[in-house]
Amino acid sequence: MEYHTQMTVEEEELLIESKFQEMLQAYKNSPHRQKIDIITKAYNFAKKAHHGVRRRSGEPYILHPIAVANIVVSEIGLGSTSICSALLHDVVEDTDYTVEDIENLFGSKIASIVDGLTKISGGVFGAQASMQAENFRKLLLTMSEDIRVILIKIADRLHNMRTLSSMLPAKQLKITGETQYIYAPLAQRLGLFGIKTELEDLCFKYEQPEAYASIEKKINDMQPHLQSIFDEFSKPIANKLHEMGYDFDLLMRIKSPASIWRKMQRKHIPFEEVFDLLAARIIFTPKEGLSEKEQCWIIYSVITNLYKPHPERLRDWVTTPKANGYEALHVTVMGNSGNWEEVQIRSRRMNEIAEKGLAAHWKYKTGESEDSELDKWLKTIKELLEHPEPNAIDFIDTFKLNLFGVEIFVFTPKGDIRTIPQGATALDFGFYLHSDIGLHCIGAKVNHKLVPLSYVLKSGDQIELLTSKKQEPQPEWIDIVTTAKARSRLRSIFKKEIRGITKNGEMLIDKELKKLNLTRNSETMPELLSHYKFAHADDLYYAAGRGSLNLDEIHNVVFKKKSQSRWMKIWKLQFGSQKKDKQDKSKFDKSKTIQLTDSTTNIEYRIADCCRPIPGDDVLGIMEENGSITIHKSECNVALKLKSSSGNKIRSVEWTTHKVLSFPAVLEIKGIDEVGVLKEIARIISEDYSINISKINIETKDGIFTGILRIYVYSADDINNLCMNLLKINAVKSVNRVNSEEYE
Ligand code: MN
Repeated sequence: MEYHTQMTVEEEELLIESKFQEMLQAYKNSPHRQKIDIITKAYNFAKKAHHGVRRRSGEPYILHPIAVANIVVSEIGLGSTSICSALLHDVVEDTDYTVEDIENLFGSKIASIVDGLTKISGGVFGAQASMQAENFRKLLLTMSEDIRVILIKIADRLHNMRTLSSMLPAKQLKITGETQYIYAPLAQRLGLFGIKTELEDLCFKYEQPEAYASIEKKINDMQPHLQSIFDEFSKPIANKLHEMGYDFDLLMRIKSPASIWRKMQRKHIPFEEVFDLLAARIIFTPKEGLSEKEQCWIIYSVITNLYKPHPERLRDWVTTPKANGYEALHVTVMGNSGNWEEVQIRSRRMNEIAEKGLAAHWKYKTGESEDSELDKWLKTIKELLEHPEPNAIDFIDTFKLNLFGVEIFVFTPKGDIRTIPQGATALDFGFYLHSDIGLHCIGAKVNHKLVPLSYVLKSGDQIELLTSKKQEPQPEWIDIVTTAKARSRLRSIFKKEIRGITKNGEMLIDKELKKLNLTRNSETMPELLSHYKFAHADDLYYAAGRGSLNLDEIHNVVFKKKSQSRWMKIWKLQFGSQKKDKQDKSKFDKSKTIQLTDSTTNIEYRIADCCRPIPGDDVLGIMEENGSITIHKSECNVALKLKSSSGNKIRSVEWTTHKVLSFPAVLEIKGIDEVGVLKEIARIISEDYSINISKINIETKDGIFTGILRIYVYSADDINNLCMNLLKINAVKSVNRVNSEEYE
């Protein structure tokens, strides 16, 4: 039974009751199973508290907490305390009840979790940078106090994402931005792979509806074909495992739309060239007498007796689990169809961890805490919070980098294994071991050879640190370290020095800009940051202040290019300016989707330089301070960042085909250098009246040609047509739209 708007009150009551029973049943089926009473009490209390309130979709509010509780038990595997907290999670926020009321009725544990959830309910990102940092800090703080707070928060976010269609478009983009920036990485870090994948797919679906739909359709169309490949591939493996008396499941896994899309973007390839769509997963019940690890390797042997393994693609997370708890053995083998196929081997226990995260197995009771990877991670968070970065955005980013980044393994001189973020230097490792070691480091030995403190660690390195009591920390060290812990420690020591240098840098940049009659603002700063390749203004100022930047480039390169480039033209559309006053109001109406067409007259808009969208792309708008709107591709990384840092400035934009104005785009054509092929390409382009060429550049090397085609088009459809026509030429092997910046 699902909610629909014509339901009678009685039908609604039945629906609510059935959803609650469904959740309760999931709890009864789980290994925890005693506390039905308190759950029922929490349910009745929440139901009464939210009585008469509805969600945007029109459904009774209580369906939301029930759904969150269901995710908490079914998809994260938590018990009664978490279920009660999930049922009550919006009570303090949205009704007159207080945390004290909850404490009196349900005890202090549930009350403190609900309190934590209430504190971080305002969204991670507020309007101002300082707010963001404060909210983010709160989120981390409550998380480090009780991991269940963040698990329930993730469940809450997942349900909001599943029901996102009833939100206003601009709000949707704010929510997806936050989800991508914080919640999906958090879910991954906590080992909730299923939830992480679903969150990413939902973001993709709402941000780029057309791309999502096209990939989804292609997957569906290919389903029978993939199934037959899989059946043929998996049958011999299944036969052999049956013969050996194994109880197992052999599942077909298809890559998620979001990760297919990421791969297409990263490698500039069409869907058809994503070859690793399929993976096989073996989940086995271990036999008595042998360890799970040994049995994973037995199954590995079965597979590699049948198929040739890829020499470099073996991942052994059984011997050394990932920091988020993930355990499995991954092997890639050559299937009979000539494709590499990945097989993931897991015991039932490993599979449980992979699906529900390490937290499901985590011990909550105090006093019994063993130092699991999760414990260590939470400890790191607590330490970091003791020395927060003064700069808000830095603070968030340093955390993100360290808490969600890729990790590598290194060894201590005694052979103990340690995990540390990728990119960490020898000096970082000192701080990782202990602040005192970091602060007195003079050098390091990696694999018995002396290296400088700036040495970047690689997985498998054995590292020994050399310290001296006489050593004092140096300001330059800030440039050497990459981990949050080391960075925040050093920054707090050199606070004064940094401030001075940063201020000086600001002055120097202002001086250069003044020569051009420019100031630091939302137009010039992104240009400077992208030119000098810094993520944050403060890093730019600091580098400028230290004299490590060539500031002459500001007028020679950055803004010179800008004034000459047609790409940067501001499209101020001034024909047919009737009804101007009337429309001006709707321009600031956040809830309305902005329609851009040839006849758009009341909005000043600018095409973002970073991704250069054209009509027909999935786009979004960022409201600038002067009231104009910058149009980015939805998938643009710069936009992603802006979305999460200034969600309130996002406007939903629809950009339909133009007939009058054309827009720049760049195509890359690759193929075999045969006689006549260039002529053929030229013919096809010249016959296409919707395309104007501004420049063609073709290079040939070793019998392969690469052509860069700069064109003006009216819409994305024009490009797609042109690509299709060009691909009809036999010698042309690929045609892709590329970011023109790469070719300037
Ligand atoms: Mn909620």
